[in-house]
Amino acid sequence: MVEAQFYKKLGNGKVLCHLCPRYCEIGEGQTGFCFVRKNEKGTLYALAYANPYAVHVDPIEKKPLSHFLPGTSVLSLGTAGCNLGCKYCQNWDISKARYDHERAHTFTPEDAVNAALAHGCPSIAFTYNDPVIWAEYAIAIAKLAHAHGLKTVMVTAGYITPEALPAVFDHMDAANVDLKGFTENFYRKVCLAHLEPVLQTLQTLQRRGTTWFEITNLVIPTLNDALAEAREMCMWILDHLGPDVPLHFTAFHPDYKLMQLPHTPPALLEEIRQMALALGLHYVYLGNVHTPTANNTYCPSCQALLIKRAWHQVQEIHLHGNRCPRCHETIPILAYQPPVREAMTPSGAARRSHWV
Ligand code: SF4
Repeated sequence: MVEAQFYKKLGNGKVLCHLCPRYCEIGEGQTGFCFVRKNEKGTLYALAYANPYAVHVDPIEKKPLSHFLPGTSVLSLGTAGCNLGCKYCQNWDISKARYDHERAHTFTPEDAVNAALAHGCPSIAFTYNDPVIWAEYAIAIAKLAHAHGLKTVMVTAGYITPEALPAVFDHMDAANVDLKGFTENFYRKVCLAHLEPVLQTLQTLQRRGTTWFEITNLVIPTLNDALAEAREMCMWILDHLGPDVPLHFTAFHPDYKLMQLPHTPPALLEEIRQMALALGLHYVYLGNVHTPTANNTYCPSCQALLIKRAWHQVQEIHLHGNRCPRCHETIPILAYQPPVREAMTPSGAARRSHWV
């Protein structure tokens, strides 16, 4: 087992984890709220290190990221556990799982980088559950990935302490931060968490300027789908982060403990999207719905079509570098440029193609 970082020993066998704002005080033999950080005889261990539950190759658009290496594949991995308690979790089979040896695979940082190289992925994403809780593993992969010319992506709820954030995000090239709602009531009752730490994370990422980030908001009927709430969220983003942060409104489907709620109506998503654009956000996308235009990227200056997408598939890219071909507006997009690099020696794990 790998000893965790981001904790301190309290004496009498207890430890305090300060990786996320839960600040779990963990007794001997117990795990924190996330299930994957365990106190064994006064030492905190990162159980999920090198033990993912899921490894796949996804389109980068599925994270979702629309302005980071568009049209490329990303090696994506996630472990058991989570530090939030969302009642609608759409990956609840792994996020609510306690770590167990039966389901976890041994997959070292070297295996992850080898698999990304073997599958032609220019980036690796830490995703599916919240990678904050397995930060040590994500950081180790990220260091090796960077040494081999790969980029890294954090798909997260942004529920991390200010003291841990730099240590993690120093190694992340991009992130999608899930802003789950815009009221403390929603965060407390539906996610068993708090809104303010997430807003702090977004502002810190913006201030640091070293990690490209986009925001996702899952619109859940009756719980966070009021136009007034979406408007308040958009205004906050404009005021605190600026108009260029891409915002993805995605459709809810009934899952986990919220099976009684309906799917999000596509018309409502489009209404929210139009409102966000009218307020001044430059890049607003829809997810989990079929739409003729709301997955595309348009120039905010002249409305030229820059990237045409169907669901998660990129069909056309019309950018000139990172400029609009019609009006030459600079577009905040990192396009893929194949690096010249030597491949690592393939390992057995890299050849486990059924995994990815
Ligand atoms: S990362 Fe896990 S153990 Fe640490 S404070 Fe958060 S929920 Fe608790």
